[in-house]
Amino acid sequence: MQKCERSTMEQLLATMSSQKYHPIEDKFTFTIHEEIHNVFKRLSGPILEAIISFKPDVDIELFNTNVTSFARWMSHVVTSDIVRSKNWKEKMHWIRNQGPHSTCWAIAAVELISALRFILGYDTEYTDYSAQFLVDFVNVKRGERKCAETNGNHYCFDYTIAKALEFVVHAGIPEAKDWVYVGCRAPNGPPNYRPQNIPRFYIKSVTKISSIHEALPYLQFHPIGAALAFFEPDYYLIKDGVYRGPVYIESVYKGFHYVNIYAIIEENGETIALVKSSHGERYGDGGYFKVSCDVLMIEVPWEGINAHTHYRQPMRLLSRFSFPTFA
Ligand SMILES: [Zn+2]
Repeated sequence: MQKCERSTMEQLLATMSSQKYHPIEDKFTFTIHEEIHNVFKRLSGPILEAIISFKPDVDIELFNTNVTSFARWMSHVVTSDIVRSKNWKEKMHWIRNQGPHSTCWAIAAVELISALRFILGYDTEYTDYSAQFLVDFVNVKRGERKCAETNGNHYCFDYTIAKALEFVVHAGIPEAKDWVYVGCRAPNGPPNYRPQNIPRFYIKSVTKISSIHEALPYLQFHPIGAALAFFEPDYYLIKDGVYRGPVYIESVYKGFHYVNIYAIIEENGETIALVKSSHGERYGDGGYFKVSCDVLMIEVPWEGINAHTHYRQPMRLLSRFSFPTFA
C-alpha cells in the first residue's frame, strides 16, 4: 500500500475487530437501453459518454459510500488458454512484508527481477535482489521531502514499479543480502554514496503497458507488475474472496498499491487475476489476492467535489502494467 503508516494500520485493525462494516445496500442499477431516463437524471453527460464508450456487458450499478459515489459495471477481459494454463506463484517464492513503509513499488520491482531472471535462466538459483537499494537511491529528493513532511518518521515514498525498473537499467541492482531491507532510513536518510564494492545486476529495458488486454498475454512468459486500486477497508477484509473494489458504505479509495500478477483464472465467466502483495501473510489469502479483471468503475462525484484523478475516467482495478526485459 502506498500510505501504510503503522499508526493508521493499527487503528484500523483495532476498529475492524470491534466495528461491523455496512455493505452498500442502496445500489441503483440500470441498463442503458431500458432505463435511459434514470441514467440521465443521475449521470452527467461526459461520465455517461465515458461509460458507454467501454461497452458495458450488463447492468451498471451506481452506489454511494460515505464520501462519494461510483458507477460500476463489468466488461469481460478475454484471455487465452495458454495464459490461463500458467501459474508463476512457486517461482516467486515467499511473501514479503513492507512493514509500515511506502515501499510496495520497490518490493514488487525486485520480485519481478528475481522471478524473471530465474524463469528466463539468467539465475540458476532463485536470487533475492535489493528493494532497499531502490528506496535509498532511486529518488533521494523524494525521500528528503517525505522526511520533512513526516517530521523525520519516514524516508520511504510513493513511486511506481516502472520508474524503479528504469533506474535499474542504468544503476543496476545488488542482491538483497548485500544491501538489506530495513524499510526506510528515517530520520537520517540513506548514505550519500552508492555501494561500489558489491556486484550489481542490470536489466536491458522496461516494458510499460496501459491496456489490460495487451498486458495479460505476457503472463504466458512470466509474471507482470501492476497497480492495484486500493480501497480500504475492502483490501483488509476480502481474504480469499474476489476483490471487486468498494463494497462498504465506509469504503475509501486510497490510491495505487503495486503488486505482481502471477496467474489468471476464469470463475463463473469472470476473468480474475491472482496477485501477490507485500503486507505479509495477514491479508488476503496468506498474502495473495483474487482481483476481478472485468470490473470497471468511474467516480460520480458529489456536487462541489472533484473526483479522484484516477477515477475521472473508467478504470479497472489493475492498471499500469510493467516488467523488465533482459536482452
Ligand atoms: Zn518508511
